[in-house]
Amino acid sequence: MKHLALILGTRPEAIKLAPLIHLLRSERWRGGARVSVISTGQHRELLRGALASFDLVPDLDLDLMEPSQHPGELAGVMLRELSRVFLEMRPDIAVAQGDTTTVLCSSLAAFLARVPFAHVEAGLRSGSLREPFPEELHRRVAAQCASWHFAPTESAREHLLCERFGEASIHVVGNTSIDALKWITQREPRGELPSWVRGPDRLKLVLVTLHRRESFGEPLERVFRAIRELVARFPDILVAYPLHPNPNVRDAAMRALGGLDRVRLGEALSYEHFVRLETRAHLILTDSGGVQEEAPSLGIPTLVLRNTTERPEAVACGVAQLVGTETDAILVAASRLLGDPSAYDAAARKVNVYGDGHASERIAEVLVDGAMRRPAFVAGPVELSV
Ligand code: UDP
Repeated sequence: MKHLALILGTRPEAIKLAPLIHLLRSERWRGGARVSVISTGQHRELLRGALASFDLVPDLDLDLMEPSQHPGELAGVMLRELSRVFLEMRPDIAVAQGDTTTVLCSSLAAFLARVPFAHVEAGLRSGSLREPFPEELHRRVAAQCASWHFAPTESAREHLLCERFGEASIHVVGNTSIDALKWITQREPRGELPSWVRGPDRLKLVLVTLHRRESFGEPLERVFRAIRELVARFPDILVAYPLHPNPNVRDAAMRALGGLDRVRLGEALSYEHFVRLETRAHLILTDSGGVQEEAPSLGIPTLVLRNTTERPEAVACGVAQLVGTETDAILVAASRLLGDPSAYDAAARKVNVYGDGHASERIAEVLVDGAMRRPAFVAGPVELSV
């Protein structure tokens, strides 16, 4: 039986690996794989919340987060600890997802311990090492260490082929974020939404998430100016903004938006509550990777508050717009969607560009059986029933 070690450390990694963990532990695969879930604890609270949404508890928690830790310090400790774990545990395969410090260190530690490494969500490229910083470098390093590249889309596969990774090592499987979305929306809802996000039904909900390191400071201030102006211009909107705990974002948001009429700020939501809010949203403003993937499957028009995106598919089919962080650009794009019903309807389409909800199955087939039985994921305007 193969022993797979799945390593995760942040909220999006837990969300995107949870369906694969559940699948590998299900009746169907139990005879073929033993699974160990290792948490680095890179983001302690957000990670715990995301794992709880999927009823998951790590088998080993390294609990490495320290307050105000520099990414370099964290990476140093994490590389040492994961190397020790891999040398002791000697899994057959190490699996990590995405582009965080946890992925950087998992891939390097696996390589150095000669444990074959599988990279989930491989091949995403913004083309700039500065945006997203430092994630673009992390995913490039992870690719160098990987024996299996699980690319979410055809364009991710193209990037890997351009970088001369072997064709046979690349599998287009879709993004496991869509598996997670399907999983959570098909489960019986748990608990009421917190009162701070609930507003009168007559108001259109504008959902905001912002947390990227490259936006700290002036870019965030420009986005907050746009939000203030939008609320003044459109008396029929309510802005809900679950705050990332990072003080660089949280304190700036409280200063710029705290106490404003029709702007609700609160704690980060559980995954199930956040998805429930996404499904009710009229418009989403975000710099999050995961939210960019979820919104098209739910049919919610999205403004991406970044200068580049490694998820161009939704922009290409017109359901998302890359607007950057300039106040005027955000105001123009948001005002059009909020004020022009035909522009809104054109962007409010459910499209299946990032996954069909079967990515984990394809990954399990390759890692456990050595081959993918289901055909590779092909993006298209097919509706996903989430
Ligand atoms: N999310 C959540 N609660 C929130 C905000 C976001 O559970 O209050 C989820 C969201 O549905 C998505 C993921 O967190 O699946 C995105 O994580 P994040 O934005 O932290 O990271 P990124 O995707 O940019 O790497």
